[in-house]
Amino acid sequence: LFVTFEGGDGAGKTTQAALLEQWIGARGGSVVRTREPGGTDVGVRIRDIVLHHRGHIDPRAEALLYAADRAHHVETVVRPAIARGDIVIQDRYLDSSVAYQGAGRVLDAHDVRALSLWATDGLLPDLTVLLDLDPAAARQRLDADDKPFDRLEAEKGEFHARVRSAFLDLAAAEPDRFLVLDATQPPESLAQRVQAAVVARLS
Ligand code: C5P
Ligand code: MG
Repeated sequence: LFVTFEGGDGAGKTTQAALLEQWIGARGGSVVRTREPGGTDVGVRIRDIVLHHRGHIDPRAEALLYAADRAHHVETVVRPAIARGDIVIQDRYLDSSVAYQGAGRVLDAHDVRALSLWATDGLLPDLTVLLDLDPAAARQRLDADDKPFDRLEAEKGEFHARVRSAFLDLAAAEPDRFLVLDATQPPESLAQRVQAAVVARLS
């Protein structure tokens, strides 16, 4: 089973991925928890490039770097884990590229998706949890948690509004794959909704 978490910075993806990992682990399931960009040694170096040079890389070059990270990660980590029967829990995947490199950077969404599907030889998640949050609330949350929001600050407010609505459009287009959750809900209730969706896909 391949489960991905999507949403903007500060939406709680990492928290929910950790809670799901604990929950499955407690039930004796074998989990691989990973992320993009940066889920491999090669990916960590690509992550460095894309985040360090954010806003100064040609958008197509940036999209290709994310796709390169994803190709290597899927081939060396995700597919082998799925083949072993492990449950893969992943922070961000191709929907992030469609939202950020597509809507955010204004590349064609279909091109970005096609690039990603080529990079991964068509691997789509069984379940994608979209943690939907207003960008202003996300920013307040990162601030309150004393987490750096330099990446948020580096972008104009409308960038994050475009990213958010791109995620919601993706979810509307594939309602069977997506579970859309209101990220302002308490983490434990969100976790229960995620668990129910995972159970439904395991049976
Ligand atoms: O979620 P994480 O902290 O790993 O993301 C790092 C940054 O990379 C985030 O600020 C996110 O906006 C950006 N990103 C992106 N395109 C992707 C994935 C992440 O711009 N495909
Ligand atoms: Mg995170």
